[in-house]
Amino acid sequence: MALKAEIVSIGSELISGQSLDTNSRWLSGELGLLGIATAFHTTIGDDLDDNVAVFRIAAARADLVLTTGGLGPTQDDLTREALARAAGVGLREDAESLAAIAALFSSRNRPMADRNRNQAMLPEGAEALPNPIGTAPGIWMTIGAAAFGAMPGVPSEMRRMFHDQVVPRLRLRHWVERAIVHRRIALFGKGESDIEAEALDLTARGHVPEVGITAHDATISFRIRGEGLTPEAAWAQTEETAAMIRGRFGALVLGEGTTDVADALADELRRTGATLATAESCTGGLVAHLITAVPGVSPHYFGGVVSYANRAKTDFLDVPADLIQAHGAVSAEVAAAMARGARERFGVDLAISTTGVAGPGGGTAEKPVGLVYLGLASRDGVETRRVEIGPEQPRDVIQRRSSKQALNWVRTTLKTWPGQDGPR
Ligand code: ATP
Ligand code: MG
Repeated sequence: MALKAEIVSIGSELISGQSLDTNSRWLSGELGLLGIATAFHTTIGDDLDDNVAVFRIAAARADLVLTTGGLGPTQDDLTREALARAAGVGLREDAESLAAIAALFSSRNRPMADRNRNQAMLPEGAEALPNPIGTAPGIWMTIGAAAFGAMPGVPSEMRRMFHDQVVPRLRLRHWVERAIVHRRIALFGKGESDIEAEALDLTARGHVPEVGITAHDATISFRIRGEGLTPEAAWAQTEETAAMIRGRFGALVLGEGTTDVADALADELRRTGATLATAESCTGGLVAHLITAVPGVSPHYFGGVVSYANRAKTDFLDVPADLIQAHGAVSAEVAAAMARGARERFGVDLAISTTGVAGPGGGTAEKPVGLVYLGLASRDGVETRRVEIGPEQPRDVIQRRSSKQALNWVRTTLKTWPGQDGPR
């Protein structure tokens, strides 16, 4: 008989229509990837008798029951109590869980309230599932013939506990016969269809491992799905394909995981020790924002000027007023002068500038919406690039894509620079 799982989500806000139960969907998806079918989704409010009744029913009809929510420190958090009653056992204080909760409070310099002590209570015979990112430990126990895993309602805590604590326990029971890994390799600098055309052999149906392509804000991601008996074997299955993608796309590759253009640029800044400043018009500080979203860039990113009005370009970046007069603010000449001005004012190795028509109005035949000039000033002088995002695109897309193009230009420029420890 095939293994049956039941997922129970607990919280009055989930049945009252206030918030959507996304935990069940996520857990069913993950279980499915592991080869375990979910037979039931049950949602209940914060009511003790209802919880006990649901747990008893679940214990009788499912082999594995995963619950989320109701582990908090407050009166309405009843999961611990309900599990104990459904199992017909009492509650005991778990010393390790109590120590972990106390440690979390002291690390945040906050006193531990008495009610948080409740969170260290476990049904007799149950095992605590550590929660390194929250106060509520989870619970692992059996009721009747069913295994129960109770996790917090907070989605991030639940996901981590599922992967770190629940899945290994499913493996111990030989309920999971295979492992699946998902890898993402991000690329930037070419269109999705061009990249796809160069990877048809990899994305073909039936290719092992399975490879998919997705695009987000002009960042193209290869998603590789590997499968094996163990996590190591699943990873190994993806290695050759990952190496092929890296080899084939070279400098277009930003990196793996959550890496995007700004992260890859920050890596290059750290590697080379170069310093950077920004001069932005149509992107309104977005380039600066994307860079500063990466932690630890302050030794390399000095700052920027959002020079939106023409006068700001002349006053703060020394762009000659007659240059703007002659060519217009959206021009290669002004982009170059902005970059040069920022490089000199900030005293940095590199300065990048943006000036363009973000729309929806203001476009002309010669300078349509979506046209953006970028300038890059370095020790080798100033260069400009003309970027066309497309007049049909909304303002925010034009701003985001041109910002990423600007960052990527700096990144690819730095790629050819020697590292701080000398040439590589
Ligand atoms: P915990 O077990 O972590 O103490 P709780 O039920 O006590 O959970 P709540 O305050 O009810 O905690 O929920 C914490 C957060 O988690 C809320 O933002 C809530 O919307 C979210 N959450 C709880 N259950 C779910 C669910 N099934 N799906 C999506 N979000 C959920
Ligand atoms: Mg709740």
